[in-house]
Amino acid sequence: MTAPERVDVCVIGAGVAGLRTAQQLAERGLSVRVLEARDRVGGRTLGGNLCGQAVDLGGQWLGSGQTRALALCEAFGLHVYEQYTDGRRLMEIAGRLRGYEGTVPPISLLGLVDTAWGLNRLNRAARSVDPAAPWQAADAATWDRMTMEQWMQRTLHTHGGRKLMQSVMRALYCCEPHEISLLSVLSGVSAAGSLETQVEVKGEGAQRFKVHGGAFQIAQHLAQRLPPGTLTLDAPVHAVEQSESGVTIRHGRGELQATRLVVAMPPAQAARIHFGNALSSARLQLQSRMPMGSIIKALVAYERPFWREQGWSGEVVSDQGPFGPIADATPPGSSQGFLVGFFDGAHSRALAGVDESLRREAAMQSLQRYFGPQAALPIGYIDKDWISDPWSLGGYAGFMAPGTITTCGHALRAPCGRIHWAGSETALRWIGYIDGAISSGERAADEVAALSA
Ligand SMILES: Cc1cc2nc3c(=O)[nH]c(=O)nc-3n(C[C@H](O)[C@H](O)[C@H](O)COP(=O)(O)OP(=O)(O)OC[C@H]3O[C@@H](n4cnc5c(N)ncnc54)[C@H](O)[C@@H]3O)c2cc1C
Repeated sequence: MTAPERVDVCVIGAGVAGLRTAQQLAERGLSVRVLEARDRVGGRTLGGNLCGQAVDLGGQWLGSGQTRALALCEAFGLHVYEQYTDGRRLMEIAGRLRGYEGTVPPISLLGLVDTAWGLNRLNRAARSVDPAAPWQAADAATWDRMTMEQWMQRTLHTHGGRKLMQSVMRALYCCEPHEISLLSVLSGVSAAGSLETQVEVKGEGAQRFKVHGGAFQIAQHLAQRLPPGTLTLDAPVHAVEQSESGVTIRHGRGELQATRLVVAMPPAQAARIHFGNALSSARLQLQSRMPMGSIIKALVAYERPFWREQGWSGEVVSDQGPFGPIADATPPGSSQGFLVGFFDGAHSRALAGVDESLRREAAMQSLQRYFGPQAALPIGYIDKDWISDPWSLGGYAGFMAPGTITTCGHALRAPCGRIHWAGSETALRWIGYIDGAISSGERAADEVAALSA
């Protein structure tokens, strides 16, 4: 019997975070092996094909402040272009569908004042939260006991303001406001700069850019740059054992020994690996208290971008859904028109695991309500049910329920002996975004390299 292979570092997970970790460690001369459960790289970034065009079924937008992701695109020769925004936006709140221009939503004056006041308070509170240690904020205990829903009920006083904030929370965190801790939201807002930065498209907005040919290519380029033999696909890791001298990793294709291990995935995924007694109790608690958001992403193709001809930008926010938010996803130079949209939060859970035709029907009904009868005549549809994917369990990211950050949040990045953690959930900037996945990989690589010197 041959002895199991030994490397300096094993990385579990070939999403953007794991690949960036491996690339950075390999560049420093360490021997690295990446084990990936799926038959592909990219994790929560994924390419699809709609009417002959490459589309993103997972992460896609980049913001101008997401400098790491933009720098990688440049290094890989991937060009970015601006999200289409010409024309009027649509908003459906409390049963009323209305068009508007600019960034001021078409709700009552009282609702606007209410929302502006709420936004201001949320951003101000977020400024006192350090994403590296949110449990240290002066009001951390109070904010972590409270759900976002409770905060909305206390702070917002109009129906319109609350409905708008509910839609924003679904769109950003893929959960219902009663599921997420206020402190978790504040930490995410702080790590992005402001709530406006998270929701906006223009300027500093996180939805400003898209990658020509798809953001899923970032992971592919990272993988291509790894030394030959570094990456093993179809190798789900099921058990890890830690000793004084190293770590033994048992996976679908055998066994591997490493001096250190980087687990590059959301805590909810890590919870499915058996770690024996290698993890701290805080880490075990964290893994069972950080669920994934609920999201299904879909793209619909039409002969022409007919909404543009009617003066619409394609952007829709709706509290009714179930399909929405929506944005224009027409590939540059194409005569066809594409829309991208999401079933998020409770809307997505009702449609997860069912036949695709039912989701398609639900999407069509929403689109006809927004854009009229022309929306009933698509030439193509594709979707990705992330909730039912056993190697993601949802998206965009894991979030923290009340009482998690202040009790076990400190275990998110803290190594457990030779076991280190990466993944977009562990980022200090742009938590839950592609850019956050990249920086988390860089941080984990620095951590391991410093201990391997
Ligand atoms: C629908 C959707 C839309 C999004 N939109 C955006 C966007 O527009 N902009 C943006 O910046 N971000 C977006 N995101 C978020 C972004 O895609 C993720 O935050 C990022 O890709 C996460 O990368 P990661 O490497 O941290 O984790 P992952 O991509 O989840 O990688 C983890 C890897 O670990 C593997 N794995 C899991 N368990 C095991 C195991 N036991 N053994 C071996 N391998 C295992 C998984 O297969 C996966 O490949 C979106 C996400 C989704 C789902």
